[in-house]
Amino acid sequence: MTLPLADGAALHALAARLYRIPRSLAGPGVRETLDGLAGFAPIERVDLPSGTPLLDWEAPQEWILRSATLTGPDGRVIADAAVHNLHVLNASAGHRARLSLAELRPHLFSLADRPDAIPYRTSYWRENWGFCLPHRVVESLPEGEYEVAIDAERVDGVFSWGEAVLPGDSADEVLFSTHVCHPQLANDNLSGLVVMTALAAELAARPRRRLTYRFLFAPGTIGAIAWLATRRDRVGAIRHGLVTAGLGDPGGFHYKRTRRGDTPIDYLVPRALAAIGAAPTVEPFVPFGYDERQFNSPGFDLPVGSLTRTPWGRYPEYHTSDDDLDFITPQQLDGALVAFRAIVDELERREVYVNLAPYGEPRLGRRGLYREIGGDEAGREKELALLWVLNLSDGIHDLPAIAERSGLPLAAVRDAAAALVAARLLAPVP
Ligand code: ZN
Repeated sequence: MTLPLADGAALHALAARLYRIPRSLAGPGVRETLDGLAGFAPIERVDLPSGTPLLDWEAPQEWILRSATLTGPDGRVIADAAVHNLHVLNASAGHRARLSLAELRPHLFSLADRPDAIPYRTSYWRENWGFCLPHRVVESLPEGEYEVAIDAERVDGVFSWGEAVLPGDSADEVLFSTHVCHPQLANDNLSGLVVMTALAAELAARPRRRLTYRFLFAPGTIGAIAWLATRRDRVGAIRHGLVTAGLGDPGGFHYKRTRRGDTPIDYLVPRALAAIGAAPTVEPFVPFGYDERQFNSPGFDLPVGSLTRTPWGRYPEYHTSDDDLDFITPQQLDGALVAFRAIVDELERREVYVNLAPYGEPRLGRRGLYREIGGDEAGREKELALLWVLNLSDGIHDLPAIAERSGLPLAAVRDAAAALVAARLLAPVP
């Protein structure tokens, strides 16, 4: 069976279909987007009433945008949300007024260093109204009377996210999370949405999975907080996770480590990507960025890293109207899907063991595993492999990680593991 999202062209076409939907933290735009993704993968929508307490936050109200226009003194429409979503301040309050240029200016947002692009600006947590415009337009506005007509409101309703859970043989979970709140921006983050949807569809179609996979399509920050707040019973099952976004731009991959920095996902991602010729730039954890900051908050401290192409804020198109459908390419989207497939393959075939006699070194000679007479170099590598496997088989290091750390061939490490299992000193992690 050919999956409908099996290549970059199909991924790009889905991004194009969702591009114009006016998303925000909550409201019809997020619902329409999630429903659009659910046609391809088993994504369920979770709805919480506005105002639901969520850790130190609460579920936001829905933002309903009907129209937003700014008309100049000569009757010409200067900004219209129907032309580009970004023209209206995201989550803007409704506002109708006639006012002077001086009164209008505090409500206009533009970028002096990218004068032809419309910036993406939000006002989620503070009531405000406004328009976003190319700086060139703002600079050329004449004195006179302007007409503001923003037909928008925030109302009590539901706060939504999408979730796909694909059970495996083990209840141990892999979490993939990506944000769904940005309006008309392609790389940040339709690219993440379509690649994760394609991955979820592929995994759902597999006859068998070793691990359980959970995909979150959640509004930034508050979505991850809402999931953590309401699914505390599932938090402890997460063994590996990745927050992802920005997968369609021309850049190479960047992997940001977990807070702990030495969990399996921290070595699996660089290894999997290196194996397909796409080794990532590896960066340390910092407590800002995407939703990895929620999953890595100290109370949860989950092993969740982040994989993107060019990280947020490091490309000039970031959070502007230049992050459009031409900025993301089918080739880059396809390469991202290939990369995530390679990561899943690494996760599925992990060879991890635990030392059953971890207190002191077990007597290997007595079990026929160690030379009784020292000095013979021929058996040296074999013995070193036994010692490395015993020492690092902690349920975290897998055999390739032990091979890398020890500098021994993987085959020698595998042979040592097999010998130790036979001697009942080692057991595979189920
Ligand atoms: Zn963003």
